[in-house]
Amino acid sequence: MSNEYDNLEGQIGGIGAETPQDQPEVLGHLQHVNKPKRDLTADEEASKEAFLNRHRFGTDAQLDNTYSITEGWIPIDRSLLKIRDIFYPEDWQFRVRPATVEAIKNWSSIDETNLAVTNNVFNEIMKSCVSIATPVGKLPWNKINSWDRFWFIMTVHDYTFAKGESVLDYEEDCTECGAPIKFNLTPDALVYEFPDDDIIEKHWNREKRAWIIDPAEYDVDAPVQTLYVPTLEKDDAIFQWAYAQSQQGKQLSEPFLRFLPWLLEKAPKDPSLLDKEIKAAKKRFSEWDEEMFSFMEEVRRNITINPSEKLKQVCPNCGEEVIASVRFPNGIKSIFAVPSKHRKFGSK
Ligand SMILES: [Zn+2]
Repeated sequence: MSNEYDNLEGQIGGIGAETPQDQPEVLGHLQHVNKPKRDLTADEEASKEAFLNRHRFGTDAQLDNTYSITEGWIPIDRSLLKIRDIFYPEDWQFRVRPATVEAIKNWSSIDETNLAVTNNVFNEIMKSCVSIATPVGKLPWNKINSWDRFWFIMTVHDYTFAKGESVLDYEEDCTECGAPIKFNLTPDALVYEFPDDDIIEKHWNREKRAWIIDPAEYDVDAPVQTLYVPTLEKDDAIFQWAYAQSQQGKQLSEPFLRFLPWLLEKAPKDPSLLDKEIKAAKKRFSEWDEEMFSFMEEVRRNITINPSEKLKQVCPNCGEEVIASVRFPNGIKSIFAVPSKHRKFGSK
């Protein structure tokens, strides 16, 4: 059995399940021990102050008694999500808190050559540091839309190292004038590809949190289609389901898997309920003829928000806005690695 298989299996055992309090939770190579509620350490308190002082997150009005900021939870100013904000209900409030020292230790020892494990590490950050408050109670992190995960992780990073202990930057040459530009990996600098404004206005239904598209308007003879925004919860459920299917030797259709997060309204935890939802989606998908499928591919391409993993920065030399790919000069583990202050021991 290959190592990769072990990791994948470890991930599947770990995701989605409710973990009882005080039970160590095993996720791939990671072990996260749920800690009882506690006050912030002096260092974390200082980090919170530094973060708040930058006035980029949460106003005083938002920081009223309604929300507990013990344990460091801070509400995020939703306008920072820019256009991506309209893909969430208006009454949700996103909250972040800094990564704990234990969590940072876990993350900095990951095997990042394994995609499934990396995926886990990202979700682990989300799980412990991002939550959603609504008028009817708290919602888990995995209701976040798939394309926003990296933005939230960068926001948690920003908060965790608000005093500037860890700055993620790297140099690239300006594509206009060739001068070196320093790119800072911050949530603000992330670049996204959005659907066209007129497409959003015409087809996005915020109340239903879905795209409603009538193919007849585009001369395609097929019933009205409702497409739901992909979420981290659905991604996980589909991943588990697809893994189970392949274990049983069943063939999976790639095109169907691409559409599945859009076709599912929800992803029930109960496997038999999930199976039922997926069967219904499959039936709907199988009813599309060639013409309809090519139309729907076009729709999917146009409504997807691409976390393009690109950063923008203004060139200090020529003043042009330059886009570069996100890079982690010291690997993904560097995101949450605290730069060490000690003198290096040996060359390894
Ligand atoms: Zn330049």
